[in-house]
Amino acid sequence: MSNQKKNVISEARKRLLTQKDVVYTVRCNGTHCDCSQFGIDCRRGFFSLWLQAVYGIYFAKKLDTTSYIDFGDKPYMYSDPAQYQGELNFWNYYYEQGNKPEGRIIPNEQFENYPLRIWKRNHLRKVHQSVVKNLMLNNQVKSYIENLLSLFKEFRTLGVHIRGTDHPDEVPKVPFDRYRTILKAHLKSYQKIFVATDEQALLESLQDEFGDRLVFQSAIRAEGNQAIHTDLSIQDRYRLGLEVLADCYALAGCDKAILVHSNVSYASLLLNPELKYNLLETKESLSKRLKTELLYTLDHWGIRRM
Ligand SMILES: [Zn+2]
Repeated sequence: MSNQKKNVISEARKRLLTQKDVVYTVRCNGTHCDCSQFGIDCRRGFFSLWLQAVYGIYFAKKLDTTSYIDFGDKPYMYSDPAQYQGELNFWNYYYEQGNKPEGRIIPNEQFENYPLRIWKRNHLRKVHQSVVKNLMLNNQVKSYIENLLSLFKEFRTLGVHIRGTDHPDEVPKVPFDRYRTILKAHLKSYQKIFVATDEQALLESLQDEFGDRLVFQSAIRAEGNQAIHTDLSIQDRYRLGLEVLADCYALAGCDKAILVHSNVSYASLLLNPELKYNLLETKESLSKRLKTELLYTLDHWGIRRM
């Protein structure tokens, strides 16, 4: 692999993937994840996997290859076999993708659909057009999300994603005061504020400040520092996934959003690539973003080598 351009698949791989009977499956292959190293459940968050799924479909589509989202090869944090007759593949709890096609199963490789966040409109629009707009929620999930949207649909609404417990060490947290300041600055122009957050304490502080202008789901939220999706004392794994999914669709349905460096924030732009937004970033997350975008550009031109 060492002489190969990072974004270009090898001829052999391409030949393999474009054979007629191939079904390209997307699953966590364990890179930066405990699931392959230690043989335990995949502990990645919902939108890290969602993003990989979307990029996987995108990748396969470019090769004109059949793809299938296969988050059922091991237990994931959102797998809820008790509610779904033994089905581990949580993707199928929310989206319609039909049965697993017959054929030769070829799992994805890490670099083919690594969930990178490229904050560029042309990238967002391309992936939206090719993949995201065709994702089909099932009826139950669709009506859950429509209910949530109906809480603020008729108002001018600002969405805000406040990252609480999820990956506190991957990207430094934006201090809460910065959210407060920017929300206050928008108060004149927006009637409602939709809040997506996994942290109960943050929500309560906002309630104290903004009262009934706040709109939010009644959701399971973390009381302490543990990421909510890795808290195994929560029985209803289906609901955990549903709530973060609905938060993301709701952000995408706002008139404008205050976003941060997270997969949830980023996915809302893939759902609605025309969404107006401000990105709150720390110095560290800014430099990380610029680095990723530079690598993306180099990959795009085929310059970077592994
Ligand atoms: Zn994993």
